[in-house]
Amino acid sequence: MAAKFVLIGSGLAGGLLAAYLGRRGYDVDLYERRADPREGNIVGGRSINLALSTRGIHALEQLGIADEVLKHAIPMRGRMIHDKSGGLHFAPYDVDPNKHINSIGRAALNTTVIEAAQRYPNVRVHFNHKCTEVDIDSPTAQLLNDSTSQRVAASGDAVIGVDGAFSAVRQSMQKKLEKFEYDESYLPHGYKELTIPPRSDGSWRMEKEALHIWPRKSFMMIALPNPDGSFTCTLFWEFEGPRSFATTKTDDEVFYFFREEFPDAVPLMPNLLEEFRTNPTGSLVTIRCAPWFYKDKVALVGDAAHAVVPFYGQGMNAAFEDCVVLDECLAEFPQDRQRAFAEYFQRRKVNADALADLAVENFIEMRDKTASKIFRAKKKLDHFLEALLPGIYWPLYTMVTFTRIPYAKAARRARVQDRIVYATLIALATLTLTCLLWLIR
Ligand SMILES: Cc1cc2nc3c(=O)[nH]c(=O)nc-3n(C[C@H](O)[C@H](O)[C@H](O)COP(=O)(O)OP(=O)(O)OC[C@H]3O[C@@H](n4cnc5c(N)ncnc54)[C@H](O)[C@@H]3O)c2cc1C
Repeated sequence: MAAKFVLIGSGLAGGLLAAYLGRRGYDVDLYERRADPREGNIVGGRSINLALSTRGIHALEQLGIADEVLKHAIPMRGRMIHDKSGGLHFAPYDVDPNKHINSIGRAALNTTVIEAAQRYPNVRVHFNHKCTEVDIDSPTAQLLNDSTSQRVAASGDAVIGVDGAFSAVRQSMQKKLEKFEYDESYLPHGYKELTIPPRSDGSWRMEKEALHIWPRKSFMMIALPNPDGSFTCTLFWEFEGPRSFATTKTDDEVFYFFREEFPDAVPLMPNLLEEFRTNPTGSLVTIRCAPWFYKDKVALVGDAAHAVVPFYGQGMNAAFEDCVVLDECLAEFPQDRQRAFAEYFQRRKVNADALADLAVENFIEMRDKTASKIFRAKKKLDHFLEALLPGIYWPLYTMVTFTRIPYAKAARRARVQDRIVYATLIALATLTLTCLLWLIR
């Protein structure tokens, strides 16, 4: 008889994992605390759209649903930097103009993965069921049906927590396992989503095929295009401080701040003040924990195992990659689920940790360095070397975004490349200087 999996959370990774497990013939019950996304359960003001790239696309391709997802996507070919005087600078993501990331709506993607899972008759999806606790030994998830207020107990051979950064499954492991390692760290910045609506003819008010950035050193705003002609902007700003979310409250203060910092965006944001008042301010957390499994009974996938800050646009892509690796491990060890879980943890943990560091570092790059001429020159040098040494020199961004090289390996390789490039530049500068001095003498 096929093993039964109880999955908690049908967000982005939960739906996808259910499809993978369903395809492998497992019996799957997927429980989600919210209503069906096809009924519009996506909470306004919370990462409405996301950047989907190679790792995520690969995971979708394995199930044959990448085309379905990408037909709703808008390609973003590079960063459009907005300076304070309204000047624009476009920096392509890669030397190859065909390489781009994709802006995709969370609701559309969530719906597609859930529908992919529901194509398998052995997968059942239950909305409005909130997991309150998991007995990790039986293993059994305790659930509360929000519609009927009834309590439900769901048992299986294994329970998988795909229930996001504040995972109830992980909390149950934490309570039970003495040596469970857990670390959460918050950035001093929060985020707020705002909108640039379409023109009256439905077209986009800024360059459509770009990720727009307003870098302002200690904070920034970004904007991603949506298929309906709008842009979703996200302001990443300090919670506290002389100029911060805490001190900028009244409409006048908000308007003054935006007019000073993002003067070219203000005329495009007719609902700025109302949205700033009503949209929530989210926090930015990195979560690391270990282990991600308990015997052959419980495992954690996606943000439940490793929430990262969003500045590399990789949280969901990494969560999708988890699903691919877990599926591979289950295929390699079909008779030994504990070994499959242990292998999955071993293959992914080091890479999730590397991504967590890369994501924090990329915040500094986006909010501060993208505005600098030296940084833009380094990007050009990166692209030049990539074109000169194809397959040998790969910029870090290219490895993370456009390949499936494991994150930890990409980070190591980039460090070595940087050392070689800087050493070569210093050697060339020294040689040039020596030649000049020799000529002068
Ligand atoms: C502002 C922002 C921008 C981002 N941009 C990007 C991007 O551009 N690219 C990218 O790759 N990633 C991005 N991310 C990260 C991405 O959103 C997450 O990594 C991704 O959603 C993780 O998927 P998941 O399925 O693990 O968790 P989630 O998508 O959070 O899904 C968890 C699901 O579990 C459900 N759930 C939670 N608790 C319970 C419970 N007790 N019982 C039952 N169900 C429960 C939730 O309702 C939810 O549906 C961004 C994140 C933020 C905050």
